[in-house]
Amino acid sequence: MKGSAAEAVKVVVRCRPMNEQETANGHKRVVDMDVDRGVVELRNIKALDTDPRKTFTFDAVYDWNSKQQELYDETFRPLIESVLCGFNGTIFAYGQTGTGKTYTMEGIRDDPEHRGVIPNSFEHIFNHIARSVNQQYLIRASYLEIYQEEIRDLLGKDQKKRLELKERPDTGVYVRDLQQFVCKSVNEIQHVMTVGNQNRAVGSTNMNLHSSRSHAIFIITIECSDVDEKGKSRIRVGKLNLVDLAGSERQSKTGTVGDRLKEATKINLSLSALGNVISALVDGKSTHIPYRDSKLTRLLQDSLGGNSKTIMVANIGPASYNYDETITTLRYANRAK
Ligand code: ADP
Ligand code: MG
Repeated sequence: MKGSAAEAVKVVVRCRPMNEQETANGHKRVVDMDVDRGVVELRNIKALDTDPRKTFTFDAVYDWNSKQQELYDETFRPLIESVLCGFNGTIFAYGQTGTGKTYTMEGIRDDPEHRGVIPNSFEHIFNHIARSVNQQYLIRASYLEIYQEEIRDLLGKDQKKRLELKERPDTGVYVRDLQQFVCKSVNEIQHVMTVGNQNRAVGSTNMNLHSSRSHAIFIITIECSDVDEKGKSRIRVGKLNLVDLAGSERQSKTGTVGDRLKEATKINLSLSALGNVISALVDGKSTHIPYRDSKLTRLLQDSLGGNSKTIMVANIGPASYNYDETITTLRYANRAK
């Protein structure tokens, strides 16, 4: 990775603990992590070759003992700080369904120890505002979902309505008619998230299936006005995108017909487009960044690359039966760094 791109895009891997069922069924852990060196090692216990281990190095790795607060302080906090200074930032949770994407982003509500990056960033932002002396802040929140390449406003009055992506020469790409709510406290912004989550669940017959196939994006816009050294007033605007991606598991193509096949193709389209954009950014040599290839990458265009910061958290499970998905996730993440 080179120069400024190395600063701008960070890729970390997080492995969740073995769950009760896996422990009860005697599943073997095939993931090893050296947290000091940022190394993940994956053992293929079925492989007959002499060295069945695959090794990958990332900006950081977090094992099954890692705490939410640790990830926040070491990895996420600097990105939120830079958004408070007027830069754009995006955090993605990537990985197979059941590996901890939602745990990383939202965590468990009402349990401070298990709160994810979204509620932790609420606290951080409003604490920062409370401490600031000469600045005025305006915080706005939006919440949307991309499902089968269609955009739904999770805070909109009409949940059946699909929103369009538009582009203006001055402000760039935006979602037409997307609601924005001004939030004055942690409680208010928390409420916005709760309403959005309720809307997300309504209308989906199977919430697990739905959330594993759609991308949820919580957007916080931070506007800061103050007076510079020369007495001139200025406004800085930073945008924070918090993205819980669709599950990365391969959608089985065999026996998949009609709508299901269409859906499978579209889910993979956004995730592969995202992989291509990030690897083109990191590569630094590409003159063309393929933002236009999916709704997700177009929508986030002004927050990926340039002066923006991006963190990709690749979530994996520890057990041997997840081997194939885990290696796929590590390869995807490896391309992005
Ligand atoms: P995903 O959103 O990727 O489908 P979830 O975040 O819903 O996965 O996680 C699946 C389950 O594993 C949840 O019950 C969650 O609380 C638990 N879990 C995930 N990661 C961790 C972790 N690092 N520590 C403890 N529990 C976790
Ligand atoms: Mg989830």
